[in-house]
Amino acid sequence: MVPVEISARHIHLSQEDSDILFGKGYQLKQLKKLSQGADFAAEETVDIEVNEQEIRGIRVVGPSRAETQLELTFADSYKLKLDIPVRLSGNIAGTPGFRIIGRAGVVVKKEGLIIAKRHLHISPEEAEKYAMKKGDLISITCGELRKTTFHDVEVRVQAGFKFTAHIDVDEANACGLKVCGVGRLIL
Ligand SMILES: [Zn+2]
Repeated sequence: MVPVEISARHIHLSQEDSDILFGKGYQLKQLKKLSQGADFAAEETVDIEVNEQEIRGIRVVGPSRAETQLELTFADSYKLKLDIPVRLSGNIAGTPGFRIIGRAGVVVKKEGLIIAKRHLHISPEEAEKYAMKKGDLISITCGELRKTTFHDVEVRVQAGFKFTAHIDVDEANACGLKVCGVGRLIL
């Protein structure tokens, strides 16, 4: 069994973009600690303009990263009438751009909009135990209301990763998972 967590749409910001959006040297305030490493949901939100439509109140996830990345869902892509590629976090080359409106400024990004590919976080030790390696695609069954098996869950191996699968809100809704739950690994 593996804990399954649900990611709502959110944005990661580079320090450079954060400086423009919130003011030079601005430090994000932690609202809630997240399961992986130092990740936290910040108190701050930003508004986004993409394909001439606006989405307000996108949650910032800290700490700052090398590159700004916006993670939306398929449901958002239908509403925006925009093709958004499914990518693993950090792989943003050639993805759509967007505009970010913060309380102190505006940033225009040429790329960085993805739908996050579902994935499993695992430490090197546990990966060895399960005979998994980075980039493996596994399946996870979850949801009691509408039991669903998700295939092509990409394995992400890194020291310090907490054994957890991440799916987005669309996927959680598909299987009737409301907050978070557990899934069964199919190896
Ligand atoms: Zn994750």
